[in-house]
Amino acid sequence: MKKIAYIGAGPSALLGAQALLNKGDYQISIYDKNNRSGGAAYTGIPSWRFSLAFIDRVEKELKEKGTQFYYNVEVGKDIPFAKLREENDVVVVAIGAQIENLAGFEAGNGYEAGLTLLYNLNILHQEKDYQEKYQSAIVWGGGNVAMDCCRSLKRILPDVQLLYRRSQDEMPASKGEVKDAVKEGVVFHYLENIADIVRDVKGSVTGVQADTMVLGEKDESGRASVHVQEGSKHFIPADLVVAAVGQKVDFSVLDEGLKTLSKSEHKTNLEGVFVCGDALYGPAMIGNAIKDGKACSEEVFEYLSQGH
Ligand SMILES: Cc1cc2nc3c(=O)[nH]c(=O)nc-3n(C[C@H](O)[C@H](O)[C@H](O)COP(=O)(O)OP(=O)(O)OC[C@H]3O[C@@H](n4cnc5c(N)ncnc54)[C@H](O)[C@@H]3O)c2cc1C
Repeated sequence: MKKIAYIGAGPSALLGAQALLNKGDYQISIYDKNNRSGGAAYTGIPSWRFSLAFIDRVEKELKEKGTQFYYNVEVGKDIPFAKLREENDVVVVAIGAQIENLAGFEAGNGYEAGLTLLYNLNILHQEKDYQEKYQSAIVWGGGNVAMDCCRSLKRILPDVQLLYRRSQDEMPASKGEVKDAVKEGVVFHYLENIADIVRDVKGSVTGVQADTMVLGEKDESGRASVHVQEGSKHFIPADLVVAAVGQKVDFSVLDEGLKTLSKSEHKTNLEGVFVCGDALYGPAMIGNAIKDGKACSEEVFEYLSQGH
């Protein structure tokens, strides 16, 4: 029986593995550094917004078909990537886009990235710690991660503001999320961007220096470009600042040499190694990850059918 290892137990891996087992008999192993399946839908999306019941159903079905799950195993640290390649005919890298962007500022003492905040609240349940340390928070960003951050913080802190550098029309977060956040009491500041994080002598965050922004011509993303309004710098106090300004993919923990060929090809420069989901095309949505995990399985199926 051909052997396949998945690195990551997010939606793309689980639904990809399920699609492969619908096509034939394979021995599949799934490794994840977390303590359960779900990927970003587990560590990032709060449980009051997304149920993992669907993930659990797929996981159960996979286990019934003989799939082995290895949790709390970080490939590249706890087990070498090369070992997985030696022991399997195919390795599918489905590690998501989990490298956070801190926008060049040092994390700590009141400044952190959105995925860290959500992990601390969703998985480590550190609500009390945050309540003891902080009164007021600024969330920086305009996507769904920013919405989950401000809505989660509003559940535990009295004063939560969101700063987004463009206008409401350009905001990538879903309209429903924005509406709910406003209803829950998050104060939105559009056309405001953080220029600097302000700290006291002990290094604790006391607020931000923000610029007012003005919209200009459309840029290469098709959205209006944004520019700093001269002389608009102003201080906004807060003791916690959370940056939710993007994530990226990083394969270096696995193998410095691993490279994808394009944003739509699952095979890579390494023989027998495929990449799928957010790890292939960057942060997107669960539906994309599911679709892509299945599409990757087609390629893996073809590859193994050719006698590899
Ligand atoms: C806060 C937040 C809110 C979101 N909101 C929505 C939403 O409302 N609707 C929507 O459709 N989508 C949403 N998404 C996006 C969605 O969750 C992702 O697009 C989707 O989970 C990607 O699936 P994936 O399988 O490609 O990767 P992921 O779900 O990111 O899974 C990757 C897995 O790989 C594991 N991993 C990484 N490196 C290693 C390693 N070296 N060894 C072992 N395991 C490793 C990780 O622990 C993780 O479990 C949100 C994401 C976040 C972060």
